[in-house]
Amino acid sequence: MRYMNGHKMEKINTTIMGGGIVGCAIAYRLSQKYNDITLFEKSPLLTVKPGAIMGDNQTSRNAGVIHAGIYYEKQKSPLKSRLCVKGNRMMYDFCKEFGVPHKKVGKLLVATDGYGEMMLEKQHQIAKENGVPEMDILDEEKVKQLEPNVRCTKALYSGTTGIVDPVKMAHKMAYLSQQAGVAIVEGNEIIDITPSGKDYIVVSRDNHHNLFRFETDIIINAAGLYSDKVARMVNPEYPHRISPLKLEFASFYRTKRQDINLGMNIYPAPNYFIKETGEIIRPTEEQIKAELGKTIATTVGSHLTPTLDENWELGAEVTISPVQSGKCSIDDYTNTQPLRKFHERVSRFFPNLKLDDLVNNGDPETDLGNRAGILAGIDDGTDFVIESDEKYPTMINLIGIESPGMTSCLAIAEYVKEIFSQIR
Ligand SMILES: Cc1cc2nc3c(=O)[nH]c(=O)nc-3n(C[C@H](O)[C@H](O)[C@H](O)COP(=O)(O)OP(=O)(O)OC[C@H]3O[C@@H](n4cnc5c(N)ncnc54)[C@H](O)[C@@H]3O)c2cc1C
Repeated sequence: MRYMNGHKMEKINTTIMGGGIVGCAIAYRLSQKYNDITLFEKSPLLTVKPGAIMGDNQTSRNAGVIHAGIYYEKQKSPLKSRLCVKGNRMMYDFCKEFGVPHKKVGKLLVATDGYGEMMLEKQHQIAKENGVPEMDILDEEKVKQLEPNVRCTKALYSGTTGIVDPVKMAHKMAYLSQQAGVAIVEGNEIIDITPSGKDYIVVSRDNHHNLFRFETDIIINAAGLYSDKVARMVNPEYPHRISPLKLEFASFYRTKRQDINLGMNIYPAPNYFIKETGEIIRPTEEQIKAELGKTIATTVGSHLTPTLDENWELGAEVTISPVQSGKCSIDDYTNTQPLRKFHERVSRFFPNLKLDDLVNNGDPETDLGNRAGILAGIDDGTDFVIESDEKYPTMINLIGIESPGMTSCLAIAEYVKEIFSQIR
């Protein structure tokens, strides 16, 4: 026990920073084997009503798609490619075992021209290399049988893509962790960390501005959009930086008319976009080789995603996302994209949808989409970064946990558990 100003200072063995879906998954996985773990979350995320959007996090604002793992090339994104495929299986198993609302609705990636078909072939190849099951190329007729309201020249089918309620998933893992002895401290932000010998002195602040100082042996930094700043609290030379990217959403009701009904995730063939502005482009192979991950990035493209109702059946609402608005400040969740843009992006492959079917943000004067989220990618790469700090090996940083971080959360937790078992 250490003393500070003559007072005993509490000691916590393992401190997890961040109660998003990844922090909760890590708490759940570690709690199956280890004791003395405390998770700090600055917002009241874990008490948020399922389905509600709140706070400065990615988990409660995401699209809820359980990805299959077809977007991430092994060479460029080794962790994403491996952890997404593994995480997909783990998520279905977890949801079934613990009663988390989800549905394996499948997905069609649709091409409407030759460039799109070329992109589908690329994705199919990546999917094969990643070992993604239940993939097939479908012609126009087969697509019509599955989704009569979708138009395309070809599609890539994925049978293991699904939808889940991400907040309920996080709640369930937090609940199971608590049952196994993890202390969860909500509404408490870690504001300072000082390395001290082999340990760390940590200061947290609650919603009433009360400070709490404690000593800890191991820190797991799952602070999402703030994870790079947290990493630099410990090691000011920590290299990676989060490059926040705003993604906006709109929605419509599939039950409004039969000709806009659908049941699967419908994605366009992937696109490239300019990171700075969000503008969609069609680069040459040379440009891709030179600029991917630097000035340009790939996007899954604006897609249609069904939602779940309270009985785990398809809900009436279908979301359209993302329309990217480029780089943004870290907590700017304002809607900026007009409904017209969402409509333009999907009308090529979903032609019966009318502009006035789209639900706006409640202000008909502005006619903007109805919610926004911010992705926590890094500015110098395309993969997740999950590793011990070079100087401080008992500090495990998870940086760049953007999409498919939700799908991968249990596989990420398993990976962190391996690092943890080596450093403790
Ligand atoms: C718009 C959007 C759509 C997405 N769609 C999908 C999808 O369909 N499928 C998919 O697999 N992935 C998707 N993702 C990605 C996915 O949401 C993230 O990868 C995942 O939620 C990351 O979880 P996390 O716990 O690492 O981060 P977060 O959810 O961001 O949580 C980090 C937490 O850390 C807390 N925190 C930060 N600093 C501190 C501090 N100092 N002290 C205490 N707490 C702190 C924050 O309050 C926050 O709650 C999407 C992301 C976005 C933004």
